[in-house]
Amino acid sequence: MTYERIVVLGGGTAGWMAATALATGLKGTTVELVESEDIGTVGVGEATFPSIRNYHQILGIPEADFLRATNGTYKLGIRFRDWRVKGEDYYHTFGDFGMLNGPESLWGQYRRHPRANLPTFGEQCLPTVMAMNDRFCAPGKDAANFNYAYHFDANLYARFLRDIALKRGVRRTEGKVVDVARRPDGGIASLKLDDDRVVKGDLFIDCSGFASLLLGRTLGEPFVDFSHWLPVDRAWAVPSAPVGDTLTPYTRATALDAGWAWRIPLQDRTGNGHVFSTRFIDKEKARDQLLQQLDGEALAEPRLLRFTTGHRAKFWSHNVVGIGLATGFLEPLESTSIYLVQVGVGRLMTLLQRGGPVALELVDTYNTGLTRQFERIRDFILMHYCLTARRDTPFWQAMAAAELPETLAYKLHAWRETGVLHQYDEEGFDGHSWLAIHAGMQNWPARSDPTLKLIPEEQSLDWVRERASQLATAVATVPTHREYLAKILGR
Ligand SMILES: Cc1cc2nc3c(=O)[nH]c(=O)nc-3n(C[C@H](O)[C@H](O)[C@H](O)COP(=O)(O)OP(=O)(O)OC[C@H]3O[C@@H](n4cnc5c(N)ncnc54)[C@H](O)[C@@H]3O)c2cc1C
Repeated sequence: MTYERIVVLGGGTAGWMAATALATGLKGTTVELVESEDIGTVGVGEATFPSIRNYHQILGIPEADFLRATNGTYKLGIRFRDWRVKGEDYYHTFGDFGMLNGPESLWGQYRRHPRANLPTFGEQCLPTVMAMNDRFCAPGKDAANFNYAYHFDANLYARFLRDIALKRGVRRTEGKVVDVARRPDGGIASLKLDDDRVVKGDLFIDCSGFASLLLGRTLGEPFVDFSHWLPVDRAWAVPSAPVGDTLTPYTRATALDAGWAWRIPLQDRTGNGHVFSTRFIDKEKARDQLLQQLDGEALAEPRLLRFTTGHRAKFWSHNVVGIGLATGFLEPLESTSIYLVQVGVGRLMTLLQRGGPVALELVDTYNTGLTRQFERIRDFILMHYCLTARRDTPFWQAMAAAELPETLAYKLHAWRETGVLHQYDEEGFDGHSWLAIHAGMQNWPARSDPTLKLIPEEQSLDWVRERASQLATAVATVPTHREYLAKILGR
């Protein structure tokens, strides 16, 4: 069956990202989006991954328009505070550390001199040096050795995409789905709204958020629970007033007693949240901890969000494709949810643009690919917890002692024993990202590569010092994040 009428259920970030892409890339297909203002959206999800730039580029969305409409700022990466031990911090930015192995591997040469008074490893990475100095500029066309993402207001982003999608032909239907009619083959035939209207479709994109109305509730797709690995299950979220003139070009993630707190700088407010595990802290105490560590005055009452980490066993079942929270959630430590939305939308578009029905084996490939994406990101997030040296609370003791998925255990073993940053298929994070976390956690291989000594000791030391010094000099001429943003916005 070809898909002449596609119905998107849900008007959050996932729904409008999907609808905008479908309307742009599938000419001649009717795209209808059903959303309910009464139910509203999850209203968080304000830090992103660099892939969002590709999404905007493919859809022809100018950066300045997007930043203006969404209260957006630039993001070079994440600053992790108190993760290894209290009082220490490190950055994971979207940058590179040169060669990852062999005699010219920067980390290898850096590790050769544990007693030398060297700059920190982070100072070897251009976007990290910019982040440390609250500076930002986009990479030049010829020297794209780093990348960047954005922070934005989630509600404004959905509205921004909605305007674009409507101009591109998406039909918007306001209403609450109260019933779902099935086809004889088990798929979905139509949605019934609370005023008795019926919305029919050939293909349904379930973007109904945690409700997972079609994939979960209607089709009964089982949930693969990751909470024994990632036990955080609640978050308090609250906006606060900005303080001072500095606009940090990074998300800050501070480890707390039973979870961690995010700080996301927008143009005129700061987004904050505390992600925690109710197995280790009660919610009132978690709320107090969030409020205590705000930089500025809270601008609203904190909102509590509940979630379970994991994903639906299938992302595409019958004629329903789930995108966004309707398919699962991995906690926001590395801001990967919107990236996963994009992976889903991108792969769906590729399959639909071929024309005709999508063969079952391609649906299977779609499901396997998305499953792997979730598993790889789960491992990457889990690594932040399991490498900690913190043992000061029951939460950190449990995280350090937890049994790991085999895939992650193998990667950590390969790194410790051989210095190889092993990569599987469907990785969301490349070797440089893994290296940034290993370095931040001071988790280095047990032995060094003998070929490193092919570079004489003095030359190696000069190289490591020189590189950091060149980056520092280059960054001193870069505008501050606030200055750069003002120029892009024409203010
Ligand atoms: C605490 C927390 C922090 C997060 N931080 C980040 C982050 O920093 N970066 C990141 O990438 N992601 C983050 N996320 C995830 C991110 O918020 C989501 O991936 C993103 O917002 C997409 O959400 P969604 O569109 O799937 O769901 P929602 O925003 O919940 O939208 C669901 C839509 O479905 C509609 N709907 C539901 N039921 C019905 C019904 N019966 N009838 C009609 N309409 C219905 C709703 O009205 C709404 O329009 C975070 C999530 C949480 C919980």
